[in-house]
Amino acid sequence: MISIDDVKRRAQQDAKSRGIRITPDEKLLQCLLEGLKTNEERYGYPSCPCRMASGNFETDRDIICPCDYRDPDVAEYGCCYCSLYVDDETHEGKNQARAIPERRPYDKQRATLGLAEKETEEETIGEMMKSSRKLLYCKQCGYVVFSDDPPYVCPICKAKREMFEELVTALGHYTRKV
Ligand SMILES: [Zn+2]
Repeated sequence: MISIDDVKRRAQQDAKSRGIRITPDEKLLQCLLEGLKTNEERYGYPSCPCRMASGNFETDRDIICPCDYRDPDVAEYGCCYCSLYVDDETHEGKNQARAIPERRPYDKQRATLGLAEKETEEETIGEMMKSSRKLLYCKQCGYVVFSDDPPYVCPICKAKREMFEELVTALGHYTRKV
């Protein structure tokens, strides 16, 4: 079984090999490492703790940490989508923490949800509404995600997963169909 220390060491080694750092925020780091460990135990590979995985290796390949989007995000924004990896400036606190736009292509996000490829965005949202997934939102920043499980860390405001709650709207209550 993999330990948190193993996951941390791996991330540190990877960062070092790329000339970048891991986040100096200890609390955030712990959440992210726990997420990576849990995903690795669940799926067999450490998929991104801030994104939903499908459980299918081919579909999730691009979001296995370090994800395909890390290097361009660190280069452009000073940190990756979930802020596990940061550049020196961000590590030294010279950059303001900020939300990184999702670089993962929309068709890949759709594939994760098991939705067909040719649908329009409107149709996709309709499908999501009909799907058995829960609509979850972050109480701290309002970020909304269709998923059965909240992300380990909010990709927008870095709140812990405990901040996620199921969104119940006038349209109905999105719960898993049994
Ligand atoms: Zn949030």
